[in-house]
This record gives sequence, structure tokens and C-alpha cells, in this order.
Amino acid sequence: MPEAPVITVPVPLGDRAYDIFVGRGLLAGAGPRIAALGARAAIIITDENVGPLYADALAEALQRQGLRATTFAVTPGEATKSYASLEKVCDAVLAAKIERGDLVVALGGGVVGDLAGFAAAVVRRGVRFVQVPTTLLAQVDSSVGGKTGINSRYGKNLVGAFHQPSLVLADTALLDTLPIREMRAGYAEVVKYGLIDDARFFDWCEANWRGVFSGGLERDEAVAQSCRAKAAVVVRDEREDGDRALLNLGHTFGHALERITRYDSARLVHGEGVAIGLCLAFRFSVSLGLCPAADAERVEAHLAATGLPTRLSHVPGGCGSVDDLLDAMAQDKKVKGGALTFILARGIGQSFIAPGIAVEKVRSFLASETGEA
Ligand code: ADP
Ligand code: ZN
Repeated sequence: MPEAPVITVPVPLGDRAYDIFVGRGLLAGAGPRIAALGARAAIIITDENVGPLYADALAEALQRQGLRATTFAVTPGEATKSYASLEKVCDAVLAAKIERGDLVVALGGGVVGDLAGFAAAVVRRGVRFVQVPTTLLAQVDSSVGGKTGINSRYGKNLVGAFHQPSLVLADTALLDTLPIREMRAGYAEVVKYGLIDDARFFDWCEANWRGVFSGGLERDEAVAQSCRAKAAVVVRDEREDGDRALLNLGHTFGHALERITRYDSARLVHGEGVAIGLCLAFRFSVSLGLCPAADAERVEAHLAATGLPTRLSHVPGGCGSVDDLLDAMAQDKKVKGGALTFILARGIGQSFIAPGIAVEKVRSFLASETGEA
């Protein structure tokens, strides 16, 4: 069967520039693309769910090009982003005799990408790495931007490095085996890009989301468009001091909900927190008189149509009181002089960074959302 059309998204970061290839069935043709980087050996880092599905095909694709390829699988789940797993992965990379010119290939979701990417950043003071993201979230978010790292007892992603991949292969067919809940969660981040600054892309999502979920060409287009959107922001602000904050739309509320549910993925996964967070950011913008109510209603209607949660009451086991939510937010964000910085919106596709939002305004908004008012 001929390879389906491949979309190339360049990430022009000077001497760290790389390409993201997006397409259905890319894994089968991964050999030549990865071999073109000129390595002699590669270690595939994956997890115990993804490995049995795809690691052999990838290893064989590399071996056909004459690369020495080995595989190392970690336990699935966020708990694997730990010092202990980092040690195991670094040792596996060294045991596989991966030299400076060789490759670490991350085959998995965000957990594998962050962990393997960080190992690649530090082993031998940095070896190159390739991402083969296997979740929608990883294809549209974590594989663009070069953030790698692990969690510490003090919080998530607190130990890490910026380390750009040399190549990203987003094979959209790999998402066919992804649990629907993970698919939806990743889709919340896709919608986010439209909400930030691309109203036409949000319209497109409303019209085409079914194709994204069922695996039509719309899926490739949604992944590519999301990568383009994130790449544009990352290129403007690689190290996250300015504009990159817009990517946090929906995340102040979302992170608070993840914290309140103790990162228990049985209750809430990241993208579900983001879906509720996007709705809250829009309704908060409405309550501040910044955004037409109709836009907030459209955001909620679209996310709900795909099966995502949109309200605090949708959090299984509850979301705590307004004070709990404010406490959780204060851990994520610095409260300066009784005020917080939020990403708010004047409408769909018109988000902006809003410093100086008084905690009292957040409090009364949350009270109206929880019914405590
Ligand atoms: P995220 O990208 O959302 O951070 P994880 O890396 O935690 O996600 O992956 C979410 C879950 O989905 C994990 O249990 C992982 O093993 C599993 N998974 C990842 N990719 C696939 C896939 N393509 N098919 C089936 N399961 C997958
Ligand atoms: Zn996110």
C-alpha cells in the first residue's frame, strides 16, 4: 500500500531546527527518515503498553537501514517520570553503547517522551533524540517545544532540561489503539490552539472533529495544524518568558483540578482538566465583561459534543470548595499583591495574557460556578 500523504511541519529553531512529519502509516517508513540523521545505533525507549504494539516494527524498520536497534520498556503511567526510572533509562542507554552521534528514540506518550528526552539530554552531556509520539496529546503538544523532565516530590516537571528532538514522526495510525478517553483528552489541546488565536481552526474543529476521532485525513490535518500553532509560539519564545504563556490557556484552572484530584488518572487526566479549564477561562472572561457569552457557550457545546467534561461538577469525586480551588491555584501561580496572571479571551481565537486579576474576582467567579454564592 502506498504511504498516505505526509505533512511536514518545520520547527525553525536555528541550529536546533527540526521537522515534524505527520501522516498515517509513517512508522513503516521510519527507517530511512531516521537513518538520514546519520547515526549507527538507536535505543527505543517505550512503555509496556506501547512496546508490544509497535516497538518491533520500529526496531525492524531501523535494522533494515543497518542501524543497531535495541528496546527498553518502562512501566506506563505518570509515576514513571521519576529519578528511579531516569536512572534505569540512562543506564539502558549506556548499556546499549549509544554514543554521541547515536539516537534515543522515544516511542510512547508524554510520559515516555519527557523521560527519554531528559535521559537523552543528560547522558554523555547530551545525545540526539527522535520522538515517535503515540498519544494525541504527545503528537500535538509535548513533542513540540523541547521540554523534557521528570517529577520531584516538590511537584510535576520540576527537574528537566530543554532538549530539542532531531526529528518527530507523528504516525496518526498509532492513535487507532489509543483508549478513547486519552484520545478525547488530547483533543482538548487541539481545540485550545483554535481558541488561542485561530477562530477559523475552531470552526474547522466544530465541523470536522468526527473525522479526527475516526482516523480520517482530518486527524492528520488536526495534528499538523496543532504542531504548526505550537511551533509558531515556541519559535517566538523558545525558553518561555513571554508569549509561550498563551499555551497555558485553560491550564491554571486545569492544573488546580489535577492537583485537587491528586493526579489520580482514574478521576481526571490532564486533557480533561484542560477541557474544564478552557470552559472556565471563557466563562470567567464573560463574567469580567470581556467576552460575549455566546462564545463561551460555543466552546462548552463543542467540547461536550466530543464527550469531554466542561464543568466543575463533572469532576468525579468532586472538586472541593472554592477555597480548595484557590489554594490549588496559588501553588501553581505566584499571587502578587492579591492578584494573579490569567490567560483570558475577548472571544474565540482572541486570547491574551491578563496580569493583575484580583483574587477576589476569581473567588466570586468560582463561587458562582460551584453554587457556593
Ligand atoms: P500522555 O501523552 O497523555 O502524557 P501517557 O504517556 O501517560 O500519556 O500515555 C497514556 C496511556 O496510554 C499510557 O497508559 C500509555 O501506555 C497508553 N498509550 C500510549 N500510546 C498508546 C497507543 N498508541 N495505543 C495504546 N495505548 C497507548
Ligand atoms: Zn496541556
